[in-house]
Amino acid sequence: MSAVIAPTDEKFDTQVPLLIVGAGAAGLCAALAAKEAGVDPVLIERDAVPSGSTALSAGLIPAAGTRFQRAKGMADSPHFLAADIQRKAHGEADAAVVEAVAQGAAPLVEWLADRHGLPFDVVDNFNYPGHSAMRMHGLPTRTGQELIDRLRSAAEANDIIILTERVAERLMAEPNGRIRGVESLRGDGTCERFGCDALILACNGFGGNPDLVRRFIPEMADALYFGHPGNRGDAVVWGNALGAQLAHLGAYQGHGSVATPHNILITWAVIMQGGMQINSEGRRFCDESRGYSEQAADVLCQPGQIAWNVFDGHIASVARQFADFRDAECAGAILSAETIAELAAAIRVPAAALAAEWDEVKSLKARGGHDRYGRQFAPEQRCEPPFHAVKVTGALFHTQGGLAIDAIGRVKRQDGKLFPNLFAAGGAAAGVSGDTAAGYLSGNGLLTATVLGRLAGQAATAQVSY
Ligand SMILES: Cc1cc2nc3c(=O)[nH]c(=O)nc-3n(C[C@H](O)[C@H](O)[C@H](O)COP(=O)(O)OP(=O)(O)OC[C@H]3O[C@@H](n4cnc5c(N)ncnc54)[C@H](O)[C@@H]3O)c2cc1C
Repeated sequence: MSAVIAPTDEKFDTQVPLLIVGAGAAGLCAALAAKEAGVDPVLIERDAVPSGSTALSAGLIPAAGTRFQRAKGMADSPHFLAADIQRKAHGEADAAVVEAVAQGAAPLVEWLADRHGLPFDVVDNFNYPGHSAMRMHGLPTRTGQELIDRLRSAAEANDIIILTERVAERLMAEPNGRIRGVESLRGDGTCERFGCDALILACNGFGGNPDLVRRFIPEMADALYFGHPGNRGDAVVWGNALGAQLAHLGAYQGHGSVATPHNILITWAVIMQGGMQINSEGRRFCDESRGYSEQAADVLCQPGQIAWNVFDGHIASVARQFADFRDAECAGAILSAETIAELAAAIRVPAAALAAEWDEVKSLKARGGHDRYGRQFAPEQRCEPPFHAVKVTGALFHTQGGLAIDAIGRVKRQDGKLFPNLFAAGGAAAGVSGDTAAGYLSGNGLLTATVLGRLAGQAATAQVSY
């Protein structure tokens, strides 16, 4: 995989106005936006059926000020979303990009709903850490599989060409950085060269490239990678060869709640509704409510690299809206008991330690107090049988570092100037989470994939010669 500076007489098999590498949420939103602006995009996708990390996600997109929120009487605004993103990112995120995604999120969700028929609603029975309002918008199954399937159907309904089982291998560029085209490999090993007026990289980050993870995110080098294996860091490798600016390469979305050994995501709602995490010694070890992303490394530091999520029956009823949680129950990952002592026996942790933690949390809930780690509990959080526990580990979900972009997805050079016709969106671009896992606010992944995908798709059409 490489980028080459092509002589100006480079020959291509096919010339297209707009080429998009990767048919995940970013690529498909870019394609829909470009098509709407009158340009016929062509997507090339590694897999036989587009799925990407998008399909593995819960498909929840944060958006502030939507008609879905207003219908439920929820007050919110893009200004609050931008402030929440920067607060979580410790002010390290690019202000212009944060503003663009915060402003663009509500129009994006309404566009997907109204123009492309995606039946979004807003999650209204729990909130994610760091969000000052309930603003996660999801589809009926609360799965990314539904999101990607509906985006692909929308693309098909708009006659957008998706060439599957094609791997983009090399970019070809002029010495001034103008992209001329892409060399791709078909499933049968033959090569096809596409010339293009504009190129959008929507091929996500480098979570599926162990060497790059070890180099840039050593704390996750040996962790389970829970994202799409085909995301091998091509955008970073090409960008580096072209002299693009790379940013926030140490940042990532981790998750401290993947059922093990079942490998099923257990929604963080079980924690935010009042559940807790203990280690195999029956002890809590941090403020779980800071966020699931930074919790991944904390869980991996516990004995056996595991923790137990412990929660009550009411929390389980909220979590059951997620297909993953129901799958985990069917798989036998969720253990249940009528008393905390029985639960301790079922999961084989010291009963006295678990009882002490549970009793403390119960009394903190009753009076709305803070624990020793600074976590705030609330009286409405209950502690009612049956009690449940699930063994979890920490995992790497996706990388947040990538190509530095401006507010419409144009890729920046190392000197700060812009490449004339190169765009990036989603995990291929640097995210809005600052430099660390702790800067990841829930939803930053799909927020930047969908909103910047749409913005890049619109902007790239300006580069097309009709
Ligand atoms: C388990 C899990 C849960 C998550 N939950 C959420 C959530 O609820 N909310 C949220 O905001 N984010 C969530 N995320 C993150 C979110 O899924 C990603 O940030 C988002 O899907 C990125 O979209 P994308 O289009 O950039 O990448 P992807 O969806 O991964 O698409 C990239 C595509 O590019 C293709 N590709 C890669 N390289 C090439 C190449 N060289 N040639 C051709 N094709 C190529 C891949 O096959 C893939 O289909 C979650 C992630 C995981 C793993």
